[in-house]
Amino acid sequence: SKSPYPSASTVAARTPPYEKLVNNLQQVRRILGPARPLTLAEKILYSHLASPEASLLDGTDNGRNVRGNATLKLKPDRVAMQDASAQMALLQFMSCGLPSTAVPASIHCDHMIVGSRGADVDLPESIKGNKEVFDFLESASKRYGIEFWPPGAGIIHQTVLENYSAPGLMMLGTDSHTPNAGGLGAIAIGVGGADAVDALVDAPWELKAPKILGVRLEGQLSGWASPKDIILKIAGELTVRGGTGFIIEYFGPGVDSLTCTGMATTCNMGAEVGATTSLFPLSPGHIPYLEATHRGSIARAAEKLGKDAGDRNYLTADKGAEYDKVLTIDLSTLEPHINGPFTPDFSTPLSKFSETVSENNWPETFGAGLIGSCTNSSFEDMTRCESLVKQAEAAGLKPKADFFLSPGSEQIRATVSTSGTLDTFTSAGAIVLANACGPCIGQWTRTDDVKKGESNAIFTSYNRNFPGRNDGNRETMNFLASPDLVTAMVYSGRTTFNPLTDTIETPSGTPFKFEPPTGTALPSAGFESGNPEFLPSAPIPDPSSEVAVSPTSSRLALLDPFPPFPTHELSLRVLLRVKGQCTTDTISAAGPWLKYKGHLPNISENTLIGAVNADTGATNQAIDVDGSARTIPELAKRWKAQDQEWLVVADSNYGEGSAREHAALQPRYLGGRVILAKSFARIHETNLKKQGIVPLTFADEGDYDRMKGCDEVETVGLLECLQSGGKGEVQLKVKRDGEEWVVNAKHQLSPDQCGFILAGSALNLLARQGKE
Ligand code: SF4
Repeated sequence: SKSPYPSASTVAARTPPYEKLVNNLQQVRRILGPARPLTLAEKILYSHLASPEASLLDGTDNGRNVRGNATLKLKPDRVAMQDASAQMALLQFMSCGLPSTAVPASIHCDHMIVGSRGADVDLPESIKGNKEVFDFLESASKRYGIEFWPPGAGIIHQTVLENYSAPGLMMLGTDSHTPNAGGLGAIAIGVGGADAVDALVDAPWELKAPKILGVRLEGQLSGWASPKDIILKIAGELTVRGGTGFIIEYFGPGVDSLTCTGMATTCNMGAEVGATTSLFPLSPGHIPYLEATHRGSIARAAEKLGKDAGDRNYLTADKGAEYDKVLTIDLSTLEPHINGPFTPDFSTPLSKFSETVSENNWPETFGAGLIGSCTNSSFEDMTRCESLVKQAEAAGLKPKADFFLSPGSEQIRATVSTSGTLDTFTSAGAIVLANACGPCIGQWTRTDDVKKGESNAIFTSYNRNFPGRNDGNRETMNFLASPDLVTAMVYSGRTTFNPLTDTIETPSGTPFKFEPPTGTALPSAGFESGNPEFLPSAPIPDPSSEVAVSPTSSRLALLDPFPPFPTHELSLRVLLRVKGQCTTDTISAAGPWLKYKGHLPNISENTLIGAVNADTGATNQAIDVDGSARTIPELAKRWKAQDQEWLVVADSNYGEGSAREHAALQPRYLGGRVILAKSFARIHETNLKKQGIVPLTFADEGDYDRMKGCDEVETVGLLECLQSGGKGEVQLKVKRDGEEWVVNAKHQLSPDQCGFILAGSALNLLARQGKE
């Protein structure tokens, strides 16, 4: 039977390899100059380099300009995957033919669980509806020694914080809110499945060295202000793109007053400003949290490390460390904020919100308040909200909007159940959902009478609020706020309510005003472990475990390796010329297609269906050689069947939006070999190369206008360029109706990437190296 708490050996296995990291840091200091002060993010990242010298000295003016210039080849300590993205990550890992993962890894079943009527009904239904996928993930976990957290165990980021994150750790997670673990001093980065596979097979993972944005915290939070408000305010200042290419590193005297889970909330939503990740230095809030989560030995090791080298220790920034940019926030004067609707950077201080509602004609009432999720379901959050519910109930009030609570993990749920907190919520009429993503990821069937397309408002303590994200209704305005504020507002039902200044009339007619919330950082008796069925499997590979993939499945399909690059130049045809914006969503749409994430042939049916054909002006239309109009995936499949490989001609910033690897996998699966664009979004360009597609850009953008669907294209010099590790010119000979001309192309191919393309994909290369 499984032990409810991790054993000493389990905790030891989850402790970052501190001795090695400190030695690596010494080497890094020698390379960069011993006197140079380093930020904390630099220390952790650079200590995880496969070869510090190679990464830090190449193209960096002898180590002087590492940030923004160096290509870091990193060896993370661990990988975490959520159920939706783990499918393709595992399928790719499996095709490498290795017996176990090279670094410890975990899988968390959370995204595919609905939240509507409560955990008791929703969880069994979700397990039934996704049984095939969960069985696959469980059997593969068993075979390769991955810790499997079953449906109901919790949301990936909360579970990681409670079990795996630790000061100085470096991990990858196949989910954009992986930086949540930075609340406990780790560098935790959200990536696509193919990147996770790099770590799983012990290949170095590449990252352009981020710049560092320092956020100096001063003062101390009080009253209604909460850690969520730090990041809501930052999102307003930086906007959704302001953190791109940066790691956000918190420092300053205000850090010491924050709890570990509060820091995690702040780091979690760093994803909303596009930051690579966010992190806090080792601070007083970390130690009791590690102790309460049964990891006292890590607390002691980190504390010792934090003192060992004085102000040049491994777990805090060096004195005098320089940031590329600095923001300062005074916690003592920080106001609660409300962000939204439709974008997390539309930030309004609470005192101005009522006025903003009127100015924008937003609804004055709202239908639901949702608290919890991976962002805000800590013991502290729950007890603060409980204090408000108790006040309201004592005054005879009942919620005026539907009230939902998503615990982040079974540990949290069981602990607040024992403490009586959960009863306080349910007695007030709140619905406790499964320990899973549920309404945060669109798995919410609303039971109130809001119709699709009807404008309405909700308040959540979640992190994202893009149109359609929660209930599939693009007109639902999701306002993001702290759980405290959401709870108080639920009792008013009005978007214009300010609990700091306004009153609510009680049934007896007297006005009621909330006192500020009060909570407890950690349960005095430690965390409960909860239902033993939700404990993870052991990380021991079992080669006898059959990985369950039915050949007739519509949701899962084993991957066949892509063919290698031929020993001659490519003869291609233009599938279509795309006009204007082409995001990863345009290339591989989400929504109903998400259920096919583990089935490449099926999800490929959505390839480029959002793209506009520049020749015809129609969306999802491609013209065949005989002049017949087809959908884009139809024509791609047809050409694949005829062994006609193809290229797409595209406009600027092709592949912007997300790291969605399906946007590279699908065109490759359907026979795409080249994307010729005016420019590429950086992450997508990397993804293409990993899957064996050559991204080329026009030397002269005017050539974009000369090209058309069905043009015949022969590459010239591409094979030699690939064979020489990215050297030499590449041209495209274009033919149409007897006419022939040459398009000069540019590329950014590193020697490693040339290797991927020649092998057919990065995975092919990894698999070959694994066998050698
Ligand atoms: Fe992502 Fe929401 Fe789940 Fe968090 S709760 S992991 S933000 S879907």
